Amino acid sequence: MHAVRNIRLCTKDCLCLYVCPTGATDTETGQIDPKKCLSGCRVCVDACPSHAISLVPEIYPPQQEKTSAVVSAMRALSASKAEQERLFAALEQAAPSPEAKQFARAMRLSNRLMAEDLLREAGYLLPQSKHARELLARELNAPQDADFPKDAVKRLLELL
Ligand code: SF4
Ligand code: SF4
Repeated sequence: MHAVRNIRLCTKDCLCLYVCPTGATDTETGQIDPKKCLSGCRVCVDACPSHAISLVPEIYPPQQEKTSAVVSAMRALSASKAEQERLFAALEQAAPSPEAKQFARAMRLSNRLMAEDLLREAGYLLPQSKHARELLARELNAPQDADFPKDAVKRLLELL
């Protein structure tokens, strides 16, 4: 473990500088020096009035594998969110009042965020991830509408 400072929360009152026994908090860059930090002493954590310092592990545990059932459920839910996004986009267009339009817009965006979160958690965060490449390859080989960007998908697969 070593201490890290969230510079956005730090009010620079310098209490951590006075209490740290090794001077790890006294740096030019604003960041705590991990080489000087005594792991887990946490004196600075307790002293900071802004809760700007926390302890982080040196090595994080490996990410837990998701079972195929969980991934399938996430995909199904994200598809449902995408459908709801489309419905709220249509409602937004047809809304009879500014309030109704605003509500539909909020719901459209909310569903978009949820769909993105679900897809990210299902393993599609990075375009070069195995899941994302498999998805692109699958879409490329499946029957598609005329406006499907086949050349762009092919090029993307070459680049990934
Ligand atoms: S004690 Fe907290 S708020 Fe004060 S300088 Fe240190 S990190 Fe910043
Ligand atoms: S955890 Fe202890 S040694 Fe590390 S920066 Fe904070 S006060 Fe200093």
